[in-house]
Amino acid sequence: MTTSQDIIRPDILAMTSYPVPDSTGLIKLDAMENPYSLPADLAKALGEHLAGVALNRYPAPRPAALIAKIKRTMNVPDTCDVLLGNGSDELISMMSVACAKPGAKVVAPVPGFVMYEMSARFAHLEFVGVPLKPDFTLDADALIAAIGEHAPALVYLAYPNNPTGTLYDDADIERVIAASKKSLVVIDEAYQPFAEKTWMPRAAEFDNVVVMRTVSKLGLAGIRLGYMAGRPAWITQFDKVRPPYNINVLTQATAEFLLDHLDVLDAQAAELRAQRTKLAREVAALPGMTVFPSAGNFLLVRVPDAAVAFETLLTSRVLIKNVGKMHPLLANCVRLTVGSAEENAHMIAALKKLPTLD
Ligand SMILES: *Cc1c(COP(=O)(O)O)cnc(C)c1O
Repeated sequence: MTTSQDIIRPDILAMTSYPVPDSTGLIKLDAMENPYSLPADLAKALGEHLAGVALNRYPAPRPAALIAKIKRTMNVPDTCDVLLGNGSDELISMMSVACAKPGAKVVAPVPGFVMYEMSARFAHLEFVGVPLKPDFTLDADALIAAIGEHAPALVYLAYPNNPTGTLYDDADIERVIAASKKSLVVIDEAYQPFAEKTWMPRAAEFDNVVVMRTVSKLGLAGIRLGYMAGRPAWITQFDKVRPPYNINVLTQATAEFLLDHLDVLDAQAAELRAQRTKLAREVAALPGMTVFPSAGNFLLVRVPDAAVAFETLLTSRVLIKNVGKMHPLLANCVRLTVGSAEENAHMIAALKKLPTLD
């Protein structure tokens, strides 16, 4: 008799699936989604555009028009190639697979984006996490020492970082790039619409840098589209492990259509940046809360008790993320996604119900 227990890798058997909590009926402020929908006339025009898509045909594997439009609208340097992924999660997975020589390693600051480690482990790469400083700024010296010691294949720098919101110093990043003599440095700009700072114009400047982005946090998490820009020497190799038709026709058509209306999404991002400032001020004014500076569409907040905060907000139908157990540096921290003015007001009202320490 065949059982999954006999066949599946022991490390996979020991794992649990990526947890996505049921958010039915809740104000969903746990996953950095854009709270706004498209204006009705634009949604209607998109619907008409999608009605013309040939669902019976396989998608273009390397859709030239879409890639050209991404290069143009996202200021990708001319000398860079672009690789598309089913979300940047898939790009991370492709890089892991392509780099997985025996003994190969991945280095990244921790706490950071969990998929760097997960993806590394799936591909049998060793993950080495280098702790941030207690204020969540980059410990560049420690990171550079780890890069020297481990000579990793990949170094991830989320700019800004998730779940901390930190935008690392450009001078520190330059030092890390210079120290990565045997490594590819992946600059992950998932939150670029909220950071307003980018390495994209410099994506071709170094022989060991690629810049990765996604449309998820910009307001299109549902279509699953990530992209990576870098010198052709890198993109050509990663393209070899891309599943043949990884970007489906509806995603391609939606992205092509909406990239002509980026002003709508950019305006939503601007509104969320204003909401972020307001929310940070209001949360910081509550007793016992420390708000860390964030360049993303979320705030990392240290509260008296993260588990109590999570449960109290849930009682008010607000879903946030308790990251308190993710890493020792995050003790009693929660991550609040910046929502609409109405959602944020609801969240603030719920936070005011937290028991105060006396
Ligand atoms: C959300 C996020 C991603 C993943 O984005 P998808 O394109 O939705 O897969 C990548 N990196 C960071 C740092 C993120 O927070």
